[in-house]
Amino acid sequence: MKYCQSCGSPVDLIVPDGDNRQRHVCTDCGDIHYQNPKIVAGCVPVWDDSVLLCRRAIEPRYNYWTLPAGFMENGETLEQAAQRESIEEANAALENLRLYSVISLPHISQVYMMFLADLKNTDFFPGAESLETKLFSEDEIPWRSLAFKTIESTLRCFFIDRKTGTFTLHNSTIEKWNR
Ligand code: ZN
Repeated sequence: MKYCQSCGSPVDLIVPDGDNRQRHVCTDCGDIHYQNPKIVAGCVPVWDDSVLLCRRAIEPRYNYWTLPAGFMENGETLEQAAQRESIEEANAALENLRLYSVISLPHISQVYMMFLADLKNTDFFPGAESLETKLFSEDEIPWRSLAFKTIESTLRCFFIDRKTGTFTLHNSTIEKWNR
């Protein structure tokens, strides 16, 4: 950040009084512009023994497969964000959302929050951000063509849990990934 979002004057990166880390502080109006992690909300859409993946039509990771997920918007709940992303990317109607995977990514200041969800039907089709939407059984998952480590991690948990039929919340941290 170079300029104040309130008045347009330059900002300094300083530790404000009573704080313990650097913030962007306006040199004119004094506003402190806090920056905090972003939440990525998404779903594992399930149909019988398969999950719905989307092949990305956008960068980053164009052409790689992902679960429906994206940045939460102001004014919506976590569930609404996950459902909206599933509609936007796959036109997938979901029900019975259960929070399943929470992954902290401190190196990029993001937190993924992924739900298990039941597909209501198979009438899904690619949204503007997807090239293709398709159901995959465990044997068919394109593990080497997955867009993000968070997606891989969530899918691995899912197929392990499915063998026992016990789906518990997975809370983890991914420090870094190379893609
Ligand atoms: Zn200002």
